[in-house]
Amino acid sequence: MIEYWNPLVERMPIDELEKMQEKKLKNLVKYVYQHSDFYKKRFDEFGVKPEDIQSLDDLKKLPFTYKVDLRDTYPTGMFCVPNEQLVRFHVSSGTTGKPTVVGYTQNDIDMWTTSLARAMTSIGVGRGDIIQIGYGYGLFTGGLGAHYGAEEVGATVLPASSGNTDRQIELMQDLGSTVIACTPSYFLFMNEVSNNLGVSIKDDTNLRVGIFGAEPWSEEMRVRIEEATGIKAYDIYGTSELSGPLFTECQCQDGIHIWADQFLIEVIDPETGEQLKEGESGELVITTLAKEALPLIRYKIGDITIISKQPCECGRTHPRIMRVLGRADDMLIIRGINVFPGQVESVLMQIPEVGEHFMIVVDRVNELDIMKVQIEMTDEAFSDKVNDIMSLERNVASALKHVLNIAVKVELVEKGSIPRSMGKAKKVIDNRNL
Ligand SMILES: [Zn+2]
Repeated sequence: MIEYWNPLVERMPIDELEKMQEKKLKNLVKYVYQHSDFYKKRFDEFGVKPEDIQSLDDLKKLPFTYKVDLRDTYPTGMFCVPNEQLVRFHVSSGTTGKPTVVGYTQNDIDMWTTSLARAMTSIGVGRGDIIQIGYGYGLFTGGLGAHYGAEEVGATVLPASSGNTDRQIELMQDLGSTVIACTPSYFLFMNEVSNNLGVSIKDDTNLRVGIFGAEPWSEEMRVRIEEATGIKAYDIYGTSELSGPLFTECQCQDGIHIWADQFLIEVIDPETGEQLKEGESGELVITTLAKEALPLIRYKIGDITIISKQPCECGRTHPRIMRVLGRADDMLIIRGINVFPGQVESVLMQIPEVGEHFMIVVDRVNELDIMKVQIEMTDEAFSDKVNDIMSLERNVASALKHVLNIAVKVELVEKGSIPRSMGKAKKVIDNRNL
């Protein structure tokens, strides 16, 4: 039997959901125009007034909001409520420039928690589960976000945070964790450490579900993880600017449901900004319909995806975004061709001899981009025969060329030499000074 956190909302007919979205959108544009100097100025510059927004179709009249807007108005210039109404801040570390600050009213926290409670219920996680949270706690939203959602559904939380991997495995065994939430990279590392300790996650623990996110990962990686550890692996999605992790796949594992009563999604052509049709691949843009402290209008989130409004077998009517290929920011341009690290991962994971850890290294030699992919061999496939190694490198290079349309140099490196990550893995070293 399929369980729902809020069946009435989660199964609401799509036309009713859209009516609700329309009403919330109209209120939202009035709200931000009144309460945020930033939005008033942006709307005025664009020549758009709240009254111009009468239907969902009018959404495209509104200007986009960018991550750089949050940086430019650091720390709280885009907030719509005075500080005394805030109950929490989170801060995302900017790799370049200033960090971004997100503030929450109590309602914002409640909405975030509800979103995750629905998501966790949709993957069959609830009372009786012991959820080990291996996302970092603190200014990063991963740890606390998952924590609140897990408590809300009545599960028992083990707030392990990231790191201290031997101890994580010991606790997983001793306390009987049934669910792990962390980055897929960290879980792979955990599995490696646990194998080295002589503990099989599949046979020696109660783990049955993984909630993996904060970095893109491929369908092929899912197959690897599920086969190696015997768990069901689910994708979780969100970003600190929207609150934090918010949405997961349901048990159908066929796209991530985005709660339409709280968020309005569209996919656009990243070059022209034009809205694309359902089923077309483009950049995801999200409007928050219910946030109070830091609502975002047409926020360009930077991920490339496809929206599906087709009915899902789980009975939920909320639209789905299909597996995220990568962030527009992560896209590499190699000799004029767009390459996502996720595409490389998906090719590598289909080759049984190749291990889960890899690194893309890009150099520019004599004005020419050279892409190299470093891989490790799985234990099962391990060989020290030079011929075997060379033929594996050749096979991988040819599989990558077939998908990426560029020549790639493949280098087999010693097992364990590619850096392991306890958080978001770094999968690209770009030595070009672009
Ligand atoms: Zn579903």
